[in-house]
Amino acid sequence: MQLFDNVWMLKGMCNTYLTYDGYLIDSGTKADKILQFANSHNITIKEIMITHAHPDHIVDLKRLKDLTNAEIIAHEFDARVIEGKLPHYKIVGRLISSIMRQEKVKVDVTVKEGEKIGDIFILHTPGHTPGSVTYIYKNIAFTGDAVIEKKGNPSLSNSIFSWDRKMEKKSLLVLSAYKLDYLLPGHGNTISSEQFKKFVQEIN
Ligand SMILES: [Zn+2]
Ligand SMILES: [Zn+2]
Repeated sequence: MQLFDNVWMLKGMCNTYLTYDGYLIDSGTKADKILQFANSHNITIKEIMITHAHPDHIVDLKRLKDLTNAEIIAHEFDARVIEGKLPHYKIVGRLISSIMRQEKVKVDVTVKEGEKIGDIFILHTPGHTPGSVTYIYKNIAFTGDAVIEKKGNPSLSNSIFSWDRKMEKKSLLVLSAYKLDYLLPGHGNTISSEQFKKFVQEIN
């Protein structure tokens, strides 16, 4: 589904986003479908930007890497989980990743707060996981599960998946200071900047 002139959303177990210039946000669970879509739009996937290391966002990462040889980008904290050097931070993540048979994969570039990958600015928004990242691209923020959308409203994800709820809320306060038009979450539909700011005030 085309969201804007330059961004498409592909729904799987989580939302995956593809920009016209080859940034893929999260690999999700449908590598073959993503590649097929990119090919049919003449887009070469050059960077796979992982928002965080939860299985629903990375389960097909190894396969997508093999298919595209694109660079894998993730925050240094969650990169350790993706590479299998650390277990998932919460038991539920460990269970799901073993059920989904998530494969380890090497992260090519680890990033931290304030860095840039091409046109994408890295904002560290920890809380959902320690290495949760929001990728800011032009007037859009790809938030992963730092904020999601449910029944027409912004929402925090279920607390069983959350690593540190207090930090999650604080990160959103930081994010709300950025000048954005839209937030594209890891689950649900697009969130407007006004909706988001209202939500952040309510939870903080
Ligand atoms: Zn998550
Ligand atoms: Zn998720």
